[in-house]
Amino acid sequence: MISEIICVGTELLTGDTVNTNASYIAKRLMGLSSGCLWQSVVGDNPSRLSESILTALKRSELIVLTGGLGPTEDDLTKETAAELLVLPLYEDAKSLNDISSYFASKGREMPNMNKKQALIPKGAVILENEIGTAPGILLDFELLKSQGKFYSQYKAKYLILLPGPPREMKMMWESAAEPYLKAKITDLALVSHYMTVFGIGESAAAERLGDIVSGANPTVSPYAKNGSVTFRITANGKSEKDAEAKCLPVIEKMKELLGDSVVGTDVGSMAEVAVSELKGAGKTVALAESCTGGLIAKKLTDVSGASEVFKMGAVTYSNEIKSLLLSVGEDTLCKFGAVSEQTALEMCKGAAELSGDDFGVSVTGIAGPLGGSEEKPVGTVWIGIYSKKTGKHSAKRYLFGHGRVNERDYIRELTAETALWELIKTVREEN
Ligand code: ATP
Ligand code: MG
Repeated sequence: MISEIICVGTELLTGDTVNTNASYIAKRLMGLSSGCLWQSVVGDNPSRLSESILTALKRSELIVLTGGLGPTEDDLTKETAAELLVLPLYEDAKSLNDISSYFASKGREMPNMNKKQALIPKGAVILENEIGTAPGILLDFELLKSQGKFYSQYKAKYLILLPGPPREMKMMWESAAEPYLKAKITDLALVSHYMTVFGIGESAAAERLGDIVSGANPTVSPYAKNGSVTFRITANGKSEKDAEAKCLPVIEKMKELLGDSVVGTDVGSMAEVAVSELKGAGKTVALAESCTGGLIAKKLTDVSGASEVFKMGAVTYSNEIKSLLLSVGEDTLCKFGAVSEQTALEMCKGAAELSGDDFGVSVTGIAGPLGGSEEKPVGTVWIGIYSKKTGKHSAKRYLFGHGRVNERDYIRELTAETALWELIKTVREEN
């Protein structure tokens, strides 16, 4: 089914509000086997809004609009759509009651203005708003047809109007709009999985996959972000089970071809994977961070339940503190420098010994844009890993993104992600 999203709101055009609704709806449409072919943003202007809706009615089967269902003068989405489709508006008693109950539950009287939100285009399916005032509107063109309303000039099968506030919009989509559509759309089911790999470039990974990336069902498409590459594997079938059965062998084959580079399938962030691997192994980690300034600790503690596996992260930015806290030898620092294999090795061991954790992870590098030398240019990073169980420690040298825009942020981000990945691999190897 061809679908389209129109987000209404001048604040979206000016950039004051980020259009998160479009990305949310687009993802949900994928799950409905309904590829989104157009997304547009239009301001709170009736003639331009009318033009956008008209264009969509002609070319798309499922049209989802968000925004402009509020009580104020500039909220015009419903009025504009109704006018275009020549559907009269009537005051729906239940909606009006819901809106006044909403205000009553907050101990407030309903402003007269909000009455407008109970106006419904004739023949529409009303989508209840459980957490706000504006009901959503679903126009099912089959249903309208059965009521004598024919629109043969349009391709549209469904026109859905949702409120702008993301929380209300999501709630309404999940509890009302999507179940309605799922019950109606029976032609094809679409299933997507996401496989993430790390430390191997997008083209190198694609090369390893060979023909798989040019397959038609499932399709396999990569996108790269901060050192990781995620492949979206999407199959369609007569049912969800059928589509799933098409994905599965391809996922297995991909795992085989990508081997140790696979972070996981349908997994969260690198930190989430690290926490879950540590939990699974019943192990804990200590961090010694220099150039990342606590970013790895931040990422780990973003994960709820991280306290089970993470007790200490030390930001040891100066040489003195590296020695004092982590027992990095003064002679090591003197002879090899803070950004060196030897320092990284002593830092990770020192951190794990200080806290008594199973693993120690260290990072020391030059994040730039200033500093660096010919021997150690900006972007040079050493990442060390120590394991209490094996007593082994090792460190690897990386050169990240020198010369990029925002290189300092980029180098730190990539360092943190890579350190987490090194930790994940070590935990897996030992488990
Ligand atoms: P309200 O009753 O709040 O007026 P509404 O349905 O009229 O609801 P809008 O006025 O268009 O919706 O938007 C209300 C708020 O919702 C905006 O200020 C904005 O913060 C948020 N919002 C609207 N559209 C989007 C969008 N596409 N993506 C993210 N947030 C949005
Ligand atoms: Mg509004």
